[in-house]
Amino acid sequence: MQVFTSVIVLVIFFLAYIFTDIRDYKERKVKSMISIAHVISTNAESTIDFHDNDAAAKILSELKNTAPEIVRADILDKNGKFFATYAKPGAAKFDTSLIPYNKKNYFTDKFLFVSDDIGSGNDMKGKVLLAVELTELGAIKKSKFEIAAVLIIAAVCISFLISLSVQPYISKRLLYLVNTIIQVRKTGNYNNPLADNGKDEISTLIKAFNRLMEEVKESEKRKDEFIGIASHELKTPLTSIKGYLDLLYVLEDKEPNHQCVQKALESTHKLMKLIKDLLDVSKIQSGQLQLNITEFKMEELIEETISSFQMLSPVHEIIKEGNLHNLAIPGDRQKIEQVLINLLSNAVKYSPPDTKVIVSARQTDAELTIQVRDFGIGIPADEIADIFERFYRTKGSSVHIAGLGLGLYICRDIILNHKGKIWVEREAKGSSFYFTLPLKTSPSIIRTKNIENAGLII
Ligand code: ADP
Repeated sequence: MQVFTSVIVLVIFFLAYIFTDIRDYKERKVKSMISIAHVISTNAESTIDFHDNDAAAKILSELKNTAPEIVRADILDKNGKFFATYAKPGAAKFDTSLIPYNKKNYFTDKFLFVSDDIGSGNDMKGKVLLAVELTELGAIKKSKFEIAAVLIIAAVCISFLISLSVQPYISKRLLYLVNTIIQVRKTGNYNNPLADNGKDEISTLIKAFNRLMEEVKESEKRKDEFIGIASHELKTPLTSIKGYLDLLYVLEDKEPNHQCVQKALESTHKLMKLIKDLLDVSKIQSGQLQLNITEFKMEELIEETISSFQMLSPVHEIIKEGNLHNLAIPGDRQKIEQVLINLLSNAVKYSPPDTKVIVSARQTDAELTIQVRDFGIGIPADEIADIFERFYRTKGSSVHIAGLGLGLYICRDIILNHKGKIWVEREAKGSSFYFTLPLKTSPSIIRTKNIENAGLII
């Protein structure tokens, strides 16, 4: 764009310069030819008075030396008849009928015609007419256009080189900004403002982006604090309600009261799970979700979780595949159970009744891989990268099926803090969620404050 604009500006500039120069040249030429015509008309006045054609022709013949660019000169008497004529020897012939005798000066492509009166007013004796060859003007035009062309080409090359050296600087900063925006959108990490010392528009854009990040960070912080406080405040009365309901469930044996207490307990259980998720998210955000690492048998945990789930959802068939031969692995048993429950509850929640859910375990030298496979509604390809984000729910599921979009976010945090990986794959029918756990305790199994930067594979 810069090169293109420079070329247009230069072309306009040079054209204006050349045309002004040519106009000045023509004005100068007209002036000098008019003064020659005037000298001739003054000298020729007496030759007309004395009918001395030879003297008039002699005056005109002097032009050969004084003004060689004049190719033809005529002296006419007052009746318009030729009194004397001069034609430059060797000059190209031209049609004399084209000479505009009635104009003071007149340009054609190749000639300038100039006329001057001999005598004046009532004493008009005749006219002098000069035809001037403009070969010099052609040469001037040619050389000016050549110089302009060379200068334009040189200017284009220079501006191209300059823009080529400036371009990477501009593009680099813009790409840096775009990459950061993509990264921030992906990770939700607003803690790294962009550094830029420029004073141009890109710098203004970067500063505006930094301010925006700062504001979003502030409002995220306030939101997280609110969620933390609100969940905490809700948890205490709810725990006591649950305690009383548990007691009532044992004491009350009359129907339908007993059944009502049971329904109230189920709803309380759902509310407690919701509040626990919100509290977990709040802890993750503030970096306080701690792991309690011990050795535990994974197979046992899978079997326990499956059997309690099978009771809760008898319409699905939950199957275990693979044998871990009593393998004990290091990890936080309760948190891994939370991951399994979450993946199983999603598998059941997003699958129609009478379908299977398969939990399989595979062991390699360094790690253990768990797969939870369902034959349900599946996940759209364009949303697969987002489902581990906080509060994200796929467009299809969010309308019909209850949920907050927190479960997978918490699972991801737990697994990444065990130095494992978690991801999902689309299947022909349904989807498969995978997570891995290292078989040996890593000295760095501690809470990572910024989980978003850890290696998530999707
Ligand atoms: P939610 O409480 O909404 O289930 P999650 O974080 O567990 O929250 O899941 C996030 C979103 O991922 C869900 O809303 C759903 O759209 C999608 N999802 C998770 N598991 C499955 C699954 N097994 N099949 C289809 N979609 C799933």
